[in-house]
Order: sequence, then C-alpha cells, then structure tokens
Amino acid sequence: MTTTTPDLITRDACVAADQSDPLASFRDRFRLPDGVIYLDGNSLGPLPKQALERARQVIESEWGRDLITSWNTNGWFDLPVRIGTKISRLIGGQAGACVATDTTSINVFKALGAALAVQAEDQPGRKVVISERDNFPTDLYMTEGMVEFLDHGYELKLVDDDSTLDDLLGDDVAVVLFTHVNYRTGRLWDLVGVTQQIHAAGALAIWDLCHSVGALEVAVSEAGADFAIGCTYKYLNGGPGSPAFIWVADRHLARARQPLSGWWGHAKPFDMAVSYAPADGIRRFLCGTQPITSLAMMEVGVDIALSADMALVREKSLALTSLFIGLVEQRLPDHPLTLITPRSHEERGSHVSLRHPDGFAVMKALIANGVLGDYREPEVLRFGITPLYLGYADVWDAVETLRRVLDENLWMAPEFQLREAVT
Ligand SMILES: *Cc1c(COP(=O)(O)O)cnc(C)c1O
Repeated sequence: MTTTTPDLITRDACVAADQSDPLASFRDRFRLPDGVIYLDGNSLGPLPKQALERARQVIESEWGRDLITSWNTNGWFDLPVRIGTKISRLIGGQAGACVATDTTSINVFKALGAALAVQAEDQPGRKVVISERDNFPTDLYMTEGMVEFLDHGYELKLVDDDSTLDDLLGDDVAVVLFTHVNYRTGRLWDLVGVTQQIHAAGALAIWDLCHSVGALEVAVSEAGADFAIGCTYKYLNGGPGSPAFIWVADRHLARARQPLSGWWGHAKPFDMAVSYAPADGIRRFLCGTQPITSLAMMEVGVDIALSADMALVREKSLALTSLFIGLVEQRLPDHPLTLITPRSHEERGSHVSLRHPDGFAVMKALIANGVLGDYREPEVLRFGITPLYLGYADVWDAVETLRRVLDENLWMAPEFQLREAVT
C-alpha cells in the first residue's frame, strides 16, 4: 500500500473513543469468548445471551410441555410473518410484505420465479436475467438452476470487468439480481440509483441484502425495489443456519406467484384441498413447515438490531472500517497487502478485505492468535466489522496481531498451510 493516513493513531485514542461510544452497552448482550477478537460476524454472528433463554423456553415449555398446541397457543404458526414484519422495518419495507423463511438460496429461487412470472405477463419478450460475476456464488447457481428448469429460452448474463450494467441493460432484460454489499470486497451499490437504472430499462430489481441488513440503513420501499432477500445469521446474529427472509413490494404482492407452492403458502392450509391456491399477502412466499426453534432464537437477534439506532451503527461501522484501513497503512506499510474494499464511504459496506499472496495461511495464523476473520478466494483476508460488539481498541489490537503475524512470519508454520472443508 502507498497512501498513508496523516495522524498517527494511538491505542489510547482508541480506548478513549470506546469510552464515548453510544453503542458500547450492546456488547454485553452477546456472549463472546475471552481472548478472541471476533471479526467474522459478517459470516456467523455471535450468540445473543437472550437467545439461550429463548431456546430453553421454546424447547422446554413450548415443545416439551405444550407440544402440538404451540402452533396456536405459542404463536408458532404466525412466527415467520411476525419476525418478517420486524425485518421489514430493518430494511425499510412496509409491514406485512416480508416473511422469515427458508434459506437465502431458496429465496433467490422464489423471488426470481415470481419476478420472471410477472415479467412474462407484462413484457413476454424479455428473457435475460442479469447478475454479477462477483456475486456470492449461490445467487448465480440458483439463477442457473431456474434458467435451466424453466427451459423457455431464458439466459443469465453477468456484469464484470468487461461489461457494465449499462452495457447489458437492453430491452431483452427481465430481471436484475444484484447484491447490495459484495461478500468479498465489501463494495456497496447505490440502491436507489441502480434500482432507477434497472427500472428505466423496463426490468425488475431483486436485491440480495445478506451483507447489508443489520449493518447499515436500507430503504427498499423508498428505493422502489421489487423484491429483496437476505439472511439473518450474519449481522442479525440469528444463529447458524437461521432462516432467511424475502420481501416483496406491495405492487407485486397480489399477483406474485412463487414456484415453490407448498402447503404453508396455501390460502387455507388446513382445508387440505387438492389444488393450490396462494394465501393473500406475503404468506404465499412460504413453502413448508418452518424450523420453529431456529426462528425463535433468531428473533432475539432481530430484536437487538431493532433496538439499535441504525444510523449510529452505520456511523460507527464507517469509523471502524476507516480505522482498520488507516492502521494497516500506518503500521504495515512493508507487506504485500492490497486493499480491495472501496475507500469511499458511499461505496463501502461493513467489512474490510485485503489481498495477500499467502492470505490463507495468514488468516489461519491470525485465528490461532485470537483474531477470527475469514479467508475468501482468491487470496482475500476478510474482516467483518460489527459495531454492536466491537470497539475501536479491538480494531487496534486486531491490526497489531496482524502486524505480528506478518513481521514475525508466524503464518509460515506448516500447520497453517492445511485446508479444511470450511474456510
Ligand atoms: C451469505 C450469503 C448467502 C448465503 O446463502 P444461504 O442459502 O444462506 O447459504 C447468499 N447470498 C449472499 C450474497 C450471501 O452473502
């Protein structure tokens, strides 16, 4: 790296910043192991203490004692919509247009199926779906699956270094599926501007909010988005594999049909009718029986996010990511690190990614030394910045550990070269 930040940042300054941090009290709501600086909350958020309590309740009392009556008496049946309504507030959607269910991958399929069906009615000639080569792979895999499954001449085209969205947006485009914050680089799209651009070309916009929800202010309704999806186990701290969500704009809801027409999306599931008739409203985006214990624990994480002022979260996130970048440049100028996260605040999400030719081993050594980030191909060290439980001194200490791992070549140890199933 070449540019340096002018003022030398001291650890004392970081400690002082922590002392006047309006979000500082949130940290106590999470269980975080001693001796660990957790910079991977953008991949799996930590455990909210309250979730343990809720897990005990849903398992012991609701399942253990109330058994099947819980569907009615403990609100199980309404849980996906109740939590969805809360998530809708976090993403600036209207009430009743969001449901917590399934995985993001499955919700990509449902949103895409619904969007393509809307377009097939309104503008039948449009057969192209646009996404990004650099998108999270499952979004592309699910789109490929949909295109092949439909077998009606649909085609996936990708924005990349050689072709911009503008280049690809012709009158053959039905849908654009973009991810708001890129999982690898942390680059943030302009939700409003890009949605306008997509609409101006007559296409519909599906936004993947996996790395945005809980990390920054999102306003899907105001932006005019058509569909949105995202997961809850990252910045919403919902727990491993906790259900994802799907949001649908009001104007599409009444006629949007999704392809996974299971009984939970039926207007009257317990009529046990022979034919499918979609429920009114967002329930039609459900498929089958929901993972209640997982949903219940996830709601705790959603409630914490709702109780935080997202503007403050965003402000602190930008301060911490800027601090991280500044410290790396000041304290590690002589190592082959390349910042791949945009510097401009308007284009930056809530993580910082650095390329290093031996990134994999460097990350393994960092983890062994108590700084948990993660590694993404190719050569990318990824550091998730989560303002609810991370402070300024944490960032200082994490960069200091990175300096030690690099200055002392700790990453060269043979045990850090080995790859496991999950990186
Ligand atoms: C994390 C992430 C996913 C994960 O999808 P799952 O179905 O929950 O495994 C999908 N898309 C994006 C953009 C992500 O960041």
